[in-house]
Amino acid sequence: MRHHGGLTQVELAGATGLSPATVSNIVKELTASGLLHTAPTSRSGRRAVHVTLARRLGLVAGIHISMRHMRVALADVANTVVSEHSMPLAKDHRADNELDKAARLIVDMLDSVDASLDEVLGVGIAMSAPVDAATGMISRSGLMRGWDGIPIAEVMQRRIHRPVFIDNDSNLGALAESRTGAARGRSDVLYIRLAQGIGSGLILGGQLYRGFGNSAGEFGHMTIDENGPVCRCGNRGCLEALAGGPAILESLRETHGALKLNDVIVRAIGGDQLCVRALADAGRHIGIAAANVCNLLAPERIVVGGDLARAGELIIGPIRHSMERSVVMGANKVADLVQGQLGERAEMSGALMFAVDSSSFGHDDFAAALS
Ligand SMILES: [Zn+2]
Repeated sequence: MRHHGGLTQVELAGATGLSPATVSNIVKELTASGLLHTAPTSRSGRRAVHVTLARRLGLVAGIHISMRHMRVALADVANTVVSEHSMPLAKDHRADNELDKAARLIVDMLDSVDASLDEVLGVGIAMSAPVDAATGMISRSGLMRGWDGIPIAEVMQRRIHRPVFIDNDSNLGALAESRTGAARGRSDVLYIRLAQGIGSGLILGGQLYRGFGNSAGEFGHMTIDENGPVCRCGNRGCLEALAGGPAILESLRETHGALKLNDVIVRAIGGDQLCVRALADAGRHIGIAAANVCNLLAPERIVVGGDLARAGELIIGPIRHSMERSVVMGANKVADLVQGQLGERAEMSGALMFAVDSSSFGHDDFAAALS
């Protein structure tokens, strides 16, 4: 239940390999002891029983901080969101202000659902930058300037006095899409997050792959053109410098003036050929990087998330086309490329799951609650 969030009894039988009668008995027992909560629902027109973990087991908070946006949510341990807020961030926002804001928001949100900080098992933070797990700091300076050198988890922990866990947002987006979204049931997955920046998360053999020093997945900084434009990381010709949000906007500045990324998507969907072209150009570069990952790791599925995924086939089509041209394996072995199912909430959902996974709410607590 911790892994899947909510399931029907029939789905639980499928997931555990137990018979429906056995599942029904176990669910009855655990509901009676207050660990599970059941509610009537329907699946394909049939009556069914929806099972979740009981809320009294505690709450978790999830925070997603990206270059221009913050999203904060409160959920129970079954990942049912009970309160959620999002807000834009200023271009050069600073850690202190934003962590203050997030901490105040969590307290207000707890108030709104009649809960207190004591009930929070942990807080997960998803950052749009590589994070050093040991120090809780962004591990490469210059990517989010206002956050450099700040031990983010520690600072947050001082403000709310609850355990805080931090990871890269694309890793957590990958986690969420693989547990409850477009990559459910797949064990080798590349999750690409396309927004102002470009990041990725890897699921290999069913596990999140973090690499040495927690630094795997810097998809946006793969070199596409060694003579290309300088990237914000300091290197030249990175994928992000060619296909990230600012690069797409820059390519349209002369003809369209100052646009936002969302304007480009809306106009492209409305048939503006220059906007369609700008997305296709970005997609072509992304496809080359994706092909390189496929050639090295052979994922089964590639999930495209982040703001730009809203453009659907206008971005995914060109990625697929360019990827298939550069992949060396047979056509039937090429990863399928799909839009994420969790949209802009994927990273926050992942932060919530990460908080549950990392908090003291483990198998021992289950055993203790049962005895
Ligand atoms: Zn770079």
